[in-house]
Amino acid sequence: MNQFELLWDYQQADVEVDKVKKDIARSPQRLKLLKLRDNIKEQQNFLKTLESEVIAMLDRIDVLQDAIGIHEDQLKQLQTKVQEQPPANSQQAREYVQETQKIINSLGDFDQETRRIRKDAADRDKKQRDIKRLAVKIKTEFDTIRDEYNMEFEQKSEELRRLQSIVDEKAKAIDKEAMDEYNAVKQHSVPPMAKLVNDRCGGCNMSFPSSVLHAIKSGKKVECETCGRMIIL
Ligand SMILES: [Zn+2]
Repeated sequence: MNQFELLWDYQQADVEVDKVKKDIARSPQRLKLLKLRDNIKEQQNFLKTLESEVIAMLDRIDVLQDAIGIHEDQLKQLQTKVQEQPPANSQQAREYVQETQKIINSLGDFDQETRRIRKDAADRDKKQRDIKRLAVKIKTEFDTIRDEYNMEFEQKSEELRRLQSIVDEKAKAIDKEAMDEYNAVKQHSVPPMAKLVNDRCGGCNMSFPSSVLHAIKSGKKVECETCGRMIIL
């Protein structure tokens, strides 16, 4: 066999290796695992968001508690003031009432907001528990599929090692120059060599001008002008 024929023979083995590699990458189990992993990550992020929201809510409740304390003090002070300095006239009485009402309204607002926040926090708490339960389920599923995938991967890796050793063996007979060209063409056209089929490129099906055909048929090294593949008779 000449270099070109050796390279063609090498390609047959190389194609097999690539097929198994692709098989491994596209394994349905592997894709399922990747999807589950994304799912788990998404849930973890959601949990983090919920947790930080709950922390912000608890902080707000602290602020509200302080405000409630201050307003209750104000109310007490006002009551003491009313007892010590009873209203002298109806105008003053109205002012006392207005001031009292203002404080009571604020207290009502604070109370409402506190209740609302507690309810929201409880909702988030429930959501967190739901997500955690779901996460346990997903983790179990993940572990099962991972075990199956590991077994499958083990088998395919074994097959890959076997085929790779054939490729490595065949590569020994090929010149560096030819191998470099093969690998360069492989970057854009796979497989990088094509047979001449009905005077056309077996890779991209473009026809060759007669001068090029002549060159190919006389055993010269020719690359297809369209797809760049190395053409072999
Ligand atoms: Zn071509």
